[in-house]
Amino acid sequence: MSRLQDKIALITGAGSGMGKAMAERFAAEGAHVIVSDVIEERVTSTVEGINAKGHSARGVVVDVSNEEQVAHMVQEVLSQEGRIDVLCNNAGIMDGMQPLGDTSDELLHRVLGVNLFGPIYLTRAVLPSMLERGGGSIVNTASVAGLFGGRAGAAYTISKHGLVGLTRSVAAEYWDQGIRCNAICPGAVATAIGMGSATPNLKVTEMVQKLSAAHGKIGQPEEIANLALFLASDEASFINGAIIVADGGWTVL
Ligand code: NAD
Repeated sequence: MSRLQDKIALITGAGSGMGKAMAERFAAEGAHVIVSDVIEERVTSTVEGINAKGHSARGVVVDVSNEEQVAHMVQEVLSQEGRIDVLCNNAGIMDGMQPLGDTSDELLHRVLGVNLFGPIYLTRAVLPSMLERGGGSIVNTASVAGLFGGRAGAAYTISKHGLVGLTRSVAAEYWDQGIRCNAICPGAVATAIGMGSATPNLKVTEMVQKLSAAHGKIGQPEEIANLALFLASDEASFINGAIIVADGGWTVL
């Protein structure tokens, strides 16, 4: 029996990196995956790759920072697929490594809009149908920057700390109604995310590079997808409100 047999899984930021690896892994484990991303070509290529292997996926182009688009996508999925068993709030952007003093309101709103308000909008939109059905699993991609300073700029660090708080709140508020909500905090993973600016702040960049160089291990998106699969599946039935670090041991040193 596949680990997500016949589950409907909605994954944001699924056109690249960890979200794409999750989409491929979940589909290979029997899920029907809704591949959601803001970049259409990425959606198309992820969906085509999954379906070419005989697995099941379809795509939706959505900007998670736009509440109206999110609500529309969720309604459309519920009317077409009938339910959402698994939600992965994975879409995220970097902040150009800007320290707080150099962080404009525009940058703060942009980064919080995608990394924090996106998961809030998605979770609020999906919860009523999960509650009605008596359960569901939500997996948030946070970051070690959600637990420590010095792993990114201010806006990103604030957004990921907020996402950890969102995870714990949802887990505490709905555990008795069958909802599990957990977060993954990856360390450095080889993806397309970059620094979020062509001119990142040098001081913060050097601080982050120094901290990572001391450890030096870079993860692969599939290593995060393995953990997301476990958390999404019924194998993790007793795991709720957990904030799980997956960083190859970077932050233990
Ligand atoms: P990635 O850039 O390869 O993938 C992120 C995807 O999100 C992209 O396809 C992008 O188009 C999409 N996206 C961006 N803005 C969006 C929006 N407004 N609406 C919908 N989709 C949007 O990066 P990744 O590293 O795979 O990032 C996945 C998650 O992992 C992010 O939340 C990121 O913050 C987090 N993370 C990454 C690392 C790392 O080292 N790569 C470490 C810790 C946490």
